[in-house]
Amino acid sequence: MIKKIPVGHVDQCQICSEKNLETILSFGHQPIVQNYLTAEQLNQPEITYPLNFCYCSNCGLAQLDYIIDQKLVFPLNYPYRTGLTNMLIKNFRSLADTLEKKYLLTTDDLIIDIGSNDGSLLKPLKDKGMKVLGIEPTNAAEDANNQGIRTIQGYFNEKIANQAVKKYGKAKIITMTNAFAHINNLFEILKGIEIMLDDDGIFVSESQYLLDMMQGLELDTIYHEHLRFYSLKPLIRLFSLTGFSLIDAETIPAAGGSIRVYAKKGQHLAGNNLKKMIKAEEAIGLYDIKKLKKYGHRMIEAKKELMALLINCQRQGARIAAIGSPARSNTLLGFTHIDNHLIDYAGEKSGSPKIGLFTPGTHIPVVDEKKLFVDQPDYALVLSWHLGKELMQLMRKLGFKGKFIMPLPQPRVVEEI
Ligand SMILES: [Zn+2]
Repeated sequence: MIKKIPVGHVDQCQICSEKNLETILSFGHQPIVQNYLTAEQLNQPEITYPLNFCYCSNCGLAQLDYIIDQKLVFPLNYPYRTGLTNMLIKNFRSLADTLEKKYLLTTDDLIIDIGSNDGSLLKPLKDKGMKVLGIEPTNAAEDANNQGIRTIQGYFNEKIANQAVKKYGKAKIITMTNAFAHINNLFEILKGIEIMLDDDGIFVSESQYLLDMMQGLELDTIYHEHLRFYSLKPLIRLFSLTGFSLIDAETIPAAGGSIRVYAKKGQHLAGNNLKKMIKAEEAIGLYDIKKLKKYGHRMIEAKKELMALLINCQRQGARIAAIGSPARSNTLLGFTHIDNHLIDYAGEKSGSPKIGLFTPGTHIPVVDEKKLFVDQPDYALVLSWHLGKELMQLMRKLGFKGKFIMPLPQPRVVEEI
């Protein structure tokens, strides 16, 4: 067991420690996806890091083999706010309802969210009358506290866990959404969770699901924030190594397809639902390196097709801009070498902190999306393609008249939405 995976190249599996990682697909060297550059920074060197999507055939975990210092990947001024993404807010409300019903929560119960960002998950639970506590390293913690969601600011570890128990007691539910795949001190985190959780409490975690990633060729979910890409078999092993059992799981639509898992202290048998889900994972090849490499190959084909499509449009005299500049799209842009020679600019919603900056690595200027409605480029590349239809309809309503290009899983021009 590695308590904390060191920064730099990793030559062993993050869960089972076996030294047999195989590369499914290499994305070359890529910058940190949130590192948007100022005009001044374009005159300076830009740091990139190896980005290799790997697989451990011993426990079945898909993972990266390079870890960047967490303080660089999630700096205190990390710009992402959960509360600004409608889809996540909807997901959190539904998770709050599910938890309340499934575990018959009462107003005496404490719910702790680790990596709680601006408190968007805890808010609906607090509104239901429960006691809540967030733990969050970035300045999003201040936003949460300002909104009355009690939040400790810090990188979660055993020390914070002990402090939290001393001050607030043990938790009936601990959640960790979209952070459980991000941290390099996985075993330390689980130790902290064990400290804070009631003996009959439940740990709930949501992460992007490897099954959806592979089937949908979602190569843009692979970047340095995501150290691991979960499926059920390695999760079962992880929990059993740390004194927990995985008791249930379900798939949810969040972030292009996610998996929500429930774990409990002690030994419990896996139910039929888990067995059925594992069968489905095996059927699509999540535990077969040859099949995984085939998915990797299809990602490379998608990259070439997208490049060809954009070059072809441009050669016919068309102008191309991008809609949105989500952090995750920077893997897609970097991997496909879609830069400021192909895309004139990327339009972000008014008020976005990215406006006036340039995309990391590919240096596409980020502007207010209103420019798209005045400038009317011939094509708009939909970088938040996982929100596809909804986003295209909105852009049409707001006045964009051109055609859309969906980059994945099959790069294509969309004229009629
Ligand atoms: Zn392993």
